[in-house]
Amino acid sequence: MDSARRPAIAVTAWADGSSAGWAPRIAISRSYIDAVEAAGGAPFALPPLDTAALRALFDAADGVLLTGGGDVAPQRYGEQPMPECGAPDLERDAAELQLAQWAVEENKPLLAICRGHQVLNVALGGTLYQDIPSQLDTPLNHRGSTERGVRGLPVHVLSVAQGSRLADAVGAGDHPANSHHHQAVKELAPELAATGWSEDGVIEALEARSASWVVGLQCHPEEMWRDHGWARAVFEAFVREAAFAAAQSEPRVVGALKPAESR
Ligand code: MN
Repeated sequence: MDSARRPAIAVTAWADGSSAGWAPRIAISRSYIDAVEAAGGAPFALPPLDTAALRALFDAADGVLLTGGGDVAPQRYGEQPMPECGAPDLERDAAELQLAQWAVEENKPLLAICRGHQVLNVALGGTLYQDIPSQLDTPLNHRGSTERGVRGLPVHVLSVAQGSRLADAVGAGDHPANSHHHQAVKELAPELAATGWSEDGVIEALEARSASWVVGLQCHPEEMWRDHGWARAVFEAFVREAAFAAAQSEPRVVGALKPAESR
């Protein structure tokens, strides 16, 4: 496996609304790129694209990472938006929901972080709390700190279930987790299992019940891996699965000459 090429990891990017005054940009938080690269993967940015273009890059990827971001349009899970729900990005919703469905159907390794964890649940038929402070009675501040430079600081526990894929990667039991979300999984999609929780019972980790390595995390391990071994282990397990998937699909040699017979 050492001589094999690094697995290509598609990391979802988005239209950057903060680029006013400049030509419109596609953006991605660098921490995702750095975390995948450090774990041995070869990350590339996958922007929202039409279905055919999205499919081409999905096929080129050995694994898919759904990144954090704004709120999924509640209409996607059969609800009308509450006032507390953020403005939707319909283009991004469409692309990422499609990627999640393909990955689950076709056993492609998928790591889904924060918004991605929520996208994965919605893609498979689950629902979300649109706003934790107004819908859940919890003493925890899942929004976390908004100060610059402290996005990696733990604010609650991630309690990982024994026997889960996540436990295989990081160990069962309690790990310190950061938290930067105001929405959460409400009804879990039938194809998913909850595998991690914060102290208040919010679903902070989930995974596919199928054989594929499809793991969602509500926290942001990409902001924690430099200081927390468990967060690094998440990316290492994901990249290892992607490398395994890549090795299964090789060699892609076609039409090789058979010298003795070809004369
Ligand atoms: Mn949280």
